[in-house]
Amino acid sequence: MPLQLNRLAVWVLAWCLLGTIGAVVLARAELGQLRDAFETDARIVHRLLSQRVVQHDAVLSSLALLQPPAGPEPRLSSVYPQILEVKRREAGAQWSDQALVQAEARSRALKRPELASMDLAAGRYVVVNAADPASFALRLDLRQVVPWAEWPMDPQTSSVRVRLAHLGQEVTLQPGQIGSGGWSFAFEKHLAAESQPFNVLAERHVGWAELPWLRMLAWCALVAAALAALRALLGQQEQRRRAEELLRLGQVARLNQMGELAAGLAHELNQPLTAVLANTQAAQRLLAEDPPELETARGAMVQAATQARRASDVIARLRRSIDPSTTAPLQAVNLAEAAAAALHLLAPRLQGQHVHASVDAGEPVLVAADPVAVEQIIHNLITNAIEAMAATAEAGRRLTLAVAREGAQGVLSISDTGPGIAPDALPRLFEPFFSTRAGGLGLGLSLCESLAARMGGQLIAGNHTPTGAIFTLSLPLQSTPS
Ligand code: ADP
Repeated sequence: MPLQLNRLAVWVLAWCLLGTIGAVVLARAELGQLRDAFETDARIVHRLLSQRVVQHDAVLSSLALLQPPAGPEPRLSSVYPQILEVKRREAGAQWSDQALVQAEARSRALKRPELASMDLAAGRYVVVNAADPASFALRLDLRQVVPWAEWPMDPQTSSVRVRLAHLGQEVTLQPGQIGSGGWSFAFEKHLAAESQPFNVLAERHVGWAELPWLRMLAWCALVAAALAALRALLGQQEQRRRAEELLRLGQVARLNQMGELAAGLAHELNQPLTAVLANTQAAQRLLAEDPPELETARGAMVQAATQARRASDVIARLRRSIDPSTTAPLQAVNLAEAAAAALHLLAPRLQGQHVHASVDAGEPVLVAADPVAVEQIIHNLITNAIEAMAATAEAGRRLTLAVAREGAQGVLSISDTGPGIAPDALPRLFEPFFSTRAGGLGLGLSLCESLAARMGGQLIAGNHTPTGAIFTLSLPLQSTPS
């Protein structure tokens, strides 16, 4: 049924929405954690490298201070493997390399070691410190500067790329894995040594595969399970409501049928009352005779009085049970809505009997009626149709409720694909106690007809082609306030 499909679509939509929101939250949390871890690692890398390069300044200052005697250079490389060579300019001598000459001049002016030259692609650079009498310079290997033992990442497998860059040159210390798509984190900071102002560049690429798919899927499954449970719970509540509504309708039907029963019985009582009348008239005649037939007349009167009392008791009791003042005031009833509500109420039964039901309605048709009575009539007619189609092949069981406007009347027709109504049954259909069903009371249609008449409408029965019965309920249109 399209209504059920729509409802399912709403549930699926809710699942998609909640699933997506949860998955996005989980993914963002994971990305946040990865970013924090990356930034922590990058800061550690910066600190470690800064500590190392600062040592070079310290070594140069020590050399300047100690002024070790010329000769074999101190074997510093055994302590600092990154120091490839210690260069020395004796007092009065000049560096052979022009870059060293200029850097020493800068160093003297700034009173701190200065970068003389670099070949970052090869990871080499030279730092010089101006001193007297001799100045010293260190040729260094950047790759040996990295303290791998204290390094926060596994340089072979880590996804983080670490480079040192200066003036357009750069050296990669850790290759990392930089892919395309996904997210990128970046860190950039100068080493904390003015003599070696290399920029530490760290990058981390997070691919789609690194998102917490398992947790995201688990969340989606959890949402699906929770929504399914909620749906089942709501379904149960709906079923309970439907059962209560059916019970209420049943009670209304019983009450109304009691009224019908009373009407039927009143009709049945007509006969004895006529007999009572005949008895009293006979007694009157007997008394008028000369001499009056007193004994016979008394007997007739006693009989008449007994029957009349019993009959009047019955009628009084029945009258009390059919109180016309209980007729509900008329109000605007939307016929298509009433039809859809009745179908909804009977949906489980229609499904159980494999009846394909549909409402055919155009623009809204509002009639002036008692909603409970209209509901009762439609309910009875649908129930009859379902029963009538029991013998029809399952695939051919069709129930059509059509709403239309005809003059000053709103019309609801209910047609089925059952066997239809036999021609001899048609004129008697609305008589109380007329039934062709085994166990049928024969009060349903007569009740529907009198309910319709009470609201100023009518109910007509007929057959339609190729097969099936059609009941047409007409009710006065709700007059629009002018
Ligand atoms: P009951 O259902 O107790 O027999 P109703 O007054 O509702 O009493 O119906 C009276 C009779 O009208 C049914 O016994 C049946 O013969 C006939 N009838 C009612 N509805 C249909 C229908 N849709 N198709 C064929 N016959 C119907």
